[in-house]
Amino acid sequence: MKIHIDRSICTGHALCAAKAPAVYRLDEEGFCCSDGQSVPPALHEQARLGARHCPEAAIFLEEEDSKQA
Ligand code: SF4
Repeated sequence: MKIHIDRSICTGHALCAAKAPAVYRLDEEGFCCSDGQSVPPALHEQARLGARHCPEAAIFLEEEDSKQA
């Protein structure tokens, strides 16, 4: 799984990192900076949880056909 963040609509609510701190990282201004980051299978559920809680729907999760389970 890969994280895509639309930085043009991310407004720095930080809810992604609050819900899934093991997955989402914030920059010094509170904006998510996990764009392009890969997520290991053990953290997929957390990644989805964080994405669901983004008020701006700025997080897109690219589900790869997992050969890495
Ligand atoms: S919750 Fe959404 S808007 Fe807030 S920092 Fe994370 S990606 Fe950006």
